[in-house]
Amino acid sequence: MPKTARGEAAIVTKTAISKDAPPTPASAERTLSGWGRTSPSAARVVTPDDVTGVLASALLAAGPGDGSLKPGVIARGLGRSYGDAAQCAGGIVVDTQNLGRIGAIDPESGEVEVDAGVSLDALLRAGLESGWFIPVSPGTRQVTIGGAIAADIHGKNHHADGSFCSHVTSVTLDTPRGGHEVGPDADPELFWATAGGMGLTGIITRARVSMRKVETSWMRVDTERHTGIDSLMDGLVRVDGVNRYSVAWVDCAATGSRLGRGILDAGDHATAAELPAKRAADPLAPPRRRGLKVPNLVPPRIMNALTVSAFNEAWFRKGISRTSQIRHLGGFFHPLDAVANWNLLYGRRGFVQYQFVVGDEHRAVIPQAIEMLQKAGAPCTLAVLKRFGPGDPGPLSFPIAGWTLALDLPVGPAGLRPALRRLDDIVAGAGGRVYLAKDARLEPEMFSVMYPRLGEFQAVRRRVDPEGLLQSDLGRRVGICEHAP
Ligand SMILES: Cc1cc2nc3c(=O)[nH]c(=O)nc-3n(C[C@H](O)[C@H](O)[C@H](O)COP(=O)(O)OP(=O)(O)OC[C@H]3O[C@@H](n4cnc5c(N)ncnc54)[C@H](O)[C@@H]3O)c2cc1C
Repeated sequence: MPKTARGEAAIVTKTAISKDAPPTPASAERTLSGWGRTSPSAARVVTPDDVTGVLASALLAAGPGDGSLKPGVIARGLGRSYGDAAQCAGGIVVDTQNLGRIGAIDPESGEVEVDAGVSLDALLRAGLESGWFIPVSPGTRQVTIGGAIAADIHGKNHHADGSFCSHVTSVTLDTPRGGHEVGPDADPELFWATAGGMGLTGIITRARVSMRKVETSWMRVDTERHTGIDSLMDGLVRVDGVNRYSVAWVDCAATGSRLGRGILDAGDHATAAELPAKRAADPLAPPRRRGLKVPNLVPPRIMNALTVSAFNEAWFRKGISRTSQIRHLGGFFHPLDAVANWNLLYGRRGFVQYQFVVGDEHRAVIPQAIEMLQKAGAPCTLAVLKRFGPGDPGPLSFPIAGWTLALDLPVGPAGLRPALRRLDDIVAGAGGRVYLAKDARLEPEMFSVMYPRLGEFQAVRRRVDPEGLLQSDLGRRVGICEHAP
């Protein structure tokens, strides 16, 4: 194990710097946090402009080391993970935002080679021009290819198409033991460890992604309003059988017989023939660029039980049952992107997102979780319920077949932390787990119960990073990094 940053730099320099290493990238000391803004930490941020020798040049740019720099390097995309996954306190964070090349999309297979810092927004816009859509879309387009692979992200079509890495045919990975070209058939062990490995197997510099052919940028959507959780969950099971995409918004403020009432949206890409005349003129119209911004001065504690309950009531009433609406894919997949920095609404203390998954036979955990948070006095500002199909082979990939609920929870109420601890026990007891891309609080004991294949993942890490150079605040906190300082 390296004792100082100087030692680490020496190891990597020997193994990974190529003869035509790129110019030293820019670097600066910065405090970083995730989207929930709960656990900031300071690191030296290095911003390479070239995919060649990223890891080695980042270590050089961070300086020769005077012992004040703790070991540790991690990649960062657009910082849309909620907790501390893209941070490395006292170490080096490789900001991939300048790695932005998008290759030509193969007109037959839809395959495209992209740099890791390309956002899904940029890829989607480039693809739509010739009728190609991203294979899996999370709730925001402001996510990089590197972040999408590292978290093996899922979308509203998981039950039909699996998660993001099921549509990735190869990944170029820069590790302390040199560069690797991996895929489902080329070093599948390293490929699947990287899928959901939260950056802890290396820095992804490029990937080949298979896009989906679409005739239009519009969706055909059916909406159903359900007055209770059982009807909502039965509805999701029913619509999943016939729709590629489905999702339910849940009103977590409703109690009693209305507990878990919600609005269900299900649909698929609209064909050109399904578009009304006014849309048919521009069938592949791209999403609108976002214009709204949250002002700096947000009143403190704007997200409280009263405002949350009023918002939920209004949203529930707005969701009238309708069939075959034509909606733009921007509004269907990424409604939150309309406001650039909406996370600031949660004020200085920020918020946590608790997203868990449990198998079909444990569906009772969904209403149980909602009720527990209500009893703990912890308002939930946004709750999204989805169904997953079978998971990817990755040892740390989050999805398993069953139910997943994502809950946005403002930090503040005294009952929140103990309620989430109890919920951890219930989820783990049901064989489920919490999503690392959203997590800011899991501890090692609970993490290893939820992710029983941790040892398998660590064995792959030892192969490509025997000194434990790749580290993040998340990896240290949950015990993935065996060499944490
Ligand atoms: C509004 C909103 C909605 C969301 N909806 C969903 C959803 O529906 N489904 C879902 O699955 N997720 C969802 N997410 C989470 C998001 O998709 C993931 O957290 C994703 O990883 C963020 O990508 P990023 O580029 O911002 O990466 P960051 O947050 O910067 O980093 C996330 C992880 O990826 C690693 N990483 C980033 N780039 C690289 C690289 N080049 N090489 C190696 N590792 C790298 C980092 O080290 C870190 O561990 C949502 C997030 C937000 C804010």
